[in-house]
Amino acid sequence: MADPGDRPTLRENFPFWMVHGVALVGAIYVGWSWAALGWLVGTYAVRMFAITAGYHRYFAHRTFKTGRAFQFVLALLAMSSAQQGVLWWAAHHRNHHKYSDQPGDVHSPRLRGFWWSHCFWLLRGNNKHTDLEKIRDFAKYPELRWLDRHDLAIAVAFGFLIYFVGGSTALFWGHFVSIVVAWHITFCINSLAHVWGSRRYETTDDSRNNALLAVLTFGEGWHNNHHHYQRSARQGFFWWEIDVTFYVLKVLEKLRIVSDVEGVPRHVRDAVAAPSRVRLAISG
Ligand SMILES: [Zn+2]
Ligand SMILES: [Zn+2]
Repeated sequence: MADPGDRPTLRENFPFWMVHGVALVGAIYVGWSWAALGWLVGTYAVRMFAITAGYHRYFAHRTFKTGRAFQFVLALLAMSSAQQGVLWWAAHHRNHHKYSDQPGDVHSPRLRGFWWSHCFWLLRGNNKHTDLEKIRDFAKYPELRWLDRHDLAIAVAFGFLIYFVGGSTALFWGHFVSIVVAWHITFCINSLAHVWGSRRYETTDDSRNNALLAVLTFGEGWHNNHHHYQRSARQGFFWWEIDVTFYVLKVLEKLRIVSDVEGVPRHVRDAVAAPSRVRLAISG
């Protein structure tokens, strides 16, 4: 259970929940339409791909290679999702794998409860700092350090851009609602994907494979696979494990925009140790 004294303060909570409020009120104000759906799905797809392919599989894990221009594009698009800066995100994620549900893991549901792992941890002021030591390989690029320092301004700038292109419907559905939906679905990988689903591999953490989360996150829901073997750009290890991000990366590889997209060695994939079982064990 989380220490109740270490919950986000009202001031730390306010901007986060205010964005939820703006999304809800704005969506009701402009109303539902096919254009609204198009903006929501389109911007969600771009954001989720940039987060999974960029923040996660590239910056945190280096599972494929690309040039300096495309890595900048990936970081910039992911930053439109208002999940803090590229270096902050990747550094914290490396920390998660280093400790994985052990003391030192900043967002473990096992250690501190479900809501802490889902969003409370990132609202706390003392977790806002980017530890450049943990991400030295990318912190050497001044343009990425610049992006990382201006995370809020970049998310706001995307809001203006989307508004100028598509008006109020685009602003509320394509920016605010899209950000809130992408937040919670991304956060589910830290919370739900450590408590709900099946475990193919006997890892030291509680990571699980969850098909629903995998569809919603373009492949990240195969989280037990990923904790078992982090070096692969492919998280759905078998053909039936849908992994949209990996398919798109393979297309980008054909187009020579990315290269060296790492797969899963057969002996790693076939090292089945844990019986597949579904468990729901939310604690706190
Ligand atoms: Zn990871
Ligand atoms: Zn995890």
